[in-house]
Amino acid sequence: MNTNSENKSFEDERENYQRGTDGRDIFAERVRSNQCQLTSQLRHQYDFIVCGSGSSGSVVARRLAENPNVSVLLIEAGGTDDLPSVMEANQWPTNLGSDRDWSFQGQPNQHVNGRSIPFSMGKTLGGGSSINVMVWARGHKHDWDFFASVANDSAWSYESVLKIYRRLEDWHGVPDPMYRGTGGPVFVQPAPEPNPLAPATVEAARVVGIPTFENPNGRMMEAAKGASISDVRVRNGKRESIFRSYVFPYMDRPNLTVLSHALVTRLTFQGKRVTGVEISYRDAIYRIGAAIEVVLSLGAIHTPKVLMQSGIGDESELRRFGIPVVQHLPGVGQNFQDHVAFDCVWEYETALEPRNNLSEAIFFSTSQSGLDSPDLFVCQAEVPKTTVDNAVRFGLPSAGWTLFGAIANPKSRGRLRLTGANLSDSISTSRRAATATCM
Ligand SMILES: Cc1cc2nc3c(=O)[nH]c(=O)nc-3n(C[C@H](O)[C@H](O)[C@H](O)COP(=O)(O)OP(=O)(O)OC[C@H]3O[C@@H](n4cnc5c(N)ncnc54)[C@H](O)[C@@H]3O)c2cc1C
Repeated sequence: MNTNSENKSFEDERENYQRGTDGRDIFAERVRSNQCQLTSQLRHQYDFIVCGSGSSGSVVARRLAENPNVSVLLIEAGGTDDLPSVMEANQWPTNLGSDRDWSFQGQPNQHVNGRSIPFSMGKTLGGGSSINVMVWARGHKHDWDFFASVANDSAWSYESVLKIYRRLEDWHGVPDPMYRGTGGPVFVQPAPEPNPLAPATVEAARVVGIPTFENPNGRMMEAAKGASISDVRVRNGKRESIFRSYVFPYMDRPNLTVLSHALVTRLTFQGKRVTGVEISYRDAIYRIGAAIEVVLSLGAIHTPKVLMQSGIGDESELRRFGIPVVQHLPGVGQNFQDHVAFDCVWEYETALEPRNNLSEAIFFSTSQSGLDSPDLFVCQAEVPKTTVDNAVRFGLPSAGWTLFGAIANPKSRGRLRLTGANLSDSISTSRRAATATCM
């Protein structure tokens, strides 16, 4: 895939936005009127239907829509991202538990002291990329090479993926052409003028033997340990979501329809071939066909839910709820993984104002000697934070900061199970065994 011509067009787009407030408003107005027209005349069929406008769906929808000869429908359950809580980088915590968060909750689990662990996931245009902490975090070399070996496909290897990382980045730190790219759609920079806590965290890591790197997304992702000021998806204090970087610039085009507040409830089939989707939109159920393909990018919880409620999953589970089996596929909903994390909160003697995305330093390390890749990571947060139940139980200082320590490669595996056949039935999320006990 050629990179220069793509990067040129990304630059052109960016110039369009950077013309100033008036230029930006003119484009936004064009987007509004185009999408108003496209969504008021929904078609019975599109070439591609992409379900979920999160980090994955946004990229897929945009790349498909680059071909003006195909029509793309992008469906999202949540609503607008044009809100201060999404756009202002320092307001990200206010989205947690709001109507832009699915606010999933795991089943109570004996391995975590009977607690029911909360799972935030974005429910808005941009999905997680509109509510997350905006830390730009590449996968480690070891992980990519592992994926390539189990998939028996060198396209997943670190060497291969590094080229893609370089192609898609628009890196605004110290030039490093071996590792970092410029001119791509993804604006990234080292956290500018970080809070003094950030360099202090990096220095503290160095003192205990974790080396300092120039940034976390180059050589550091080839090492077993490393600490750095974070790379962030923040520009002039504003969030750069994947939706805004990929989809929004194409929303004035006739071949990309973005339908928000629409819930995908089921896939439709002809035999075993997926022919489209059923959606719940404005209090009615609609069926929309896909001439070529349906892409399910509903996140790690709703993707298996919709598959299972459509009849793709473990047949005994589906039969339990009277769902007709289209395909027995026992892996659906299995092998659920997430990085268990622990908040350690310190109270300030003299409060320091948080900056940027409130999280500007990161370090990776190993839990034992002899590992060639990290199995632990820690992010710093410039505010005191913890889960709601812990905050109620232990309280939080009015001014403080947090180290958020996490397991990078948890051994714990959970699964997602249906509680019923209908879209209003929730999904049950449980972990079988935890690698550590948390309070
Ligand atoms: C609070 C928080 C902080 C995070 N911080 C970081 C960070 O700093 N750096 C980082 O790299 N990662 C971070 N992440 C993780 C990252 O955001 C996710 O890994 C990523 O967004 C997952 O992408 P996805 O496309 O798989 O799913 P999502 O981004 O979750 O997208 C799924 C989309 O599908 C929509 N959807 C779901 N069900 C339906 C349905 N039935 N019908 C229609 N639409 C539906 C959802 O509303 C959502 O928009 C964070 C996540 C959270 C929640």
